[in-house]
Amino acid sequence: MEAAVANKNHTVDIIDKKLRPIKANEALVKMEYCGVCHTDLHVKNGDFGEVPGRVLGHEGVGIVSEIGSAVTSLKVGDRVSVAWFFQGCGHCDYCVNGQETFCRQAQNAGYTVDGGMAEECIVTADYAVKVPEDLDPIAASSITCAGVTTYKAIKVSDIKPGQWLVIFGMGGLGNLALQYAKNVFNAKVIAVDINDDKLAIAKELGADVIINGKQEDVVARVKEVTGDGAHATVITAVSKVASNQAVDAVRATGKVVAVGLPVETMDLSIPRLVLDGIEVIGSLVGTRADLAEAFEFAAEGAVTPIVQTRPLADINDIMTEMAEGKISGRMVIDFTK
Ligand code: NAD
Ligand code: ZN
Ligand code: ZN
Repeated sequence: MEAAVANKNHTVDIIDKKLRPIKANEALVKMEYCGVCHTDLHVKNGDFGEVPGRVLGHEGVGIVSEIGSAVTSLKVGDRVSVAWFFQGCGHCDYCVNGQETFCRQAQNAGYTVDGGMAEECIVTADYAVKVPEDLDPIAASSITCAGVTTYKAIKVSDIKPGQWLVIFGMGGLGNLALQYAKNVFNAKVIAVDINDDKLAIAKELGADVIINGKQEDVVARVKEVTGDGAHATVITAVSKVASNQAVDAVRATGKVVAVGLPVETMDLSIPRLVLDGIEVIGSLVGTRADLAEAFEFAAEGAVTPIVQTRPLADINDIMTEMAEGKISGRMVIDFTK
């Protein structure tokens, strides 16, 4: 089967790969679609360590074609997702207390185990979240990472209806963050990006205020709109500048939720942290339960991913377009043709 794998030169090879037989607790998934997340770009570039030969992809959706002898949670024909949180140990504190994505033994699709950017993928059956029947599979691919990650980050932000949330970055994650924030959490949203095309999309999707970080003083504008500053921010931008602006944009006791993964250090003034009682917290994808919820909201029409399908052969072009900030919404590899 064809698979997209990271290589030592930090590009992607399309190789012919033979999969091993599945184990008793596993299922074989015939992939339909797999979105290209900015995290795939980080993995391919070796930002989190070198993984040559690893099959990329964690926004995967496909149909179960075979199940192992011990599998009870899935059946052949089910549509399931291949997400970054591929599996946990199932018994540590994190796993049993609703924080399974932080399990120290967690495996991540497309990074520590082979992911969904291939014609077929082996999953651990109990961890493959089912896609609702009434959700379009291409849209589902975006919810599998971009959707659940931002849905969870907004939960972590503790934003209340009517409060101001600033979302930094209006890319693949950001446009979904905006839709969840407006349509599920009923927040007021200030959308920040450095690209006017993405801000135009944000306006269309219902952002209350848009700010171009290259043309305006982001913090001053947030304060002008909100008075004291925002109640919370979610940072999806891959940018240290945006992270620092986020810290400055919240009011006293505000919450800064870091999601984007620039390989840098953010500035954080200790007096700012202490005297203003702000909180800075990281948020990592979402649990299986978060993903099931995020899918349901998409199936109900509260969020609609912006997607475009592409052939696997385009993967290196897509990576370049993403690095240059040229993609609106998500590029999704189509394995159905
Ligand atoms: P993307 O490339 O689609 O979007 C990034 C957006 O940030 C672009 O629209 C870009 O114009 C914008 N941007 C760049 N600099 C900016 C600035 N200074 N101010 C405001 N906006 C700015 O990427 P994506 O797929 O949305 O992923 C974003 C980041 O989130 C990546 O680092 C990715 O690895 C990370 N991520 C984290 C998690 C998690 O669980 N925490 C999950 C998925 C992705
Ligand atoms: Zn991702
Ligand atoms: Zn665990």
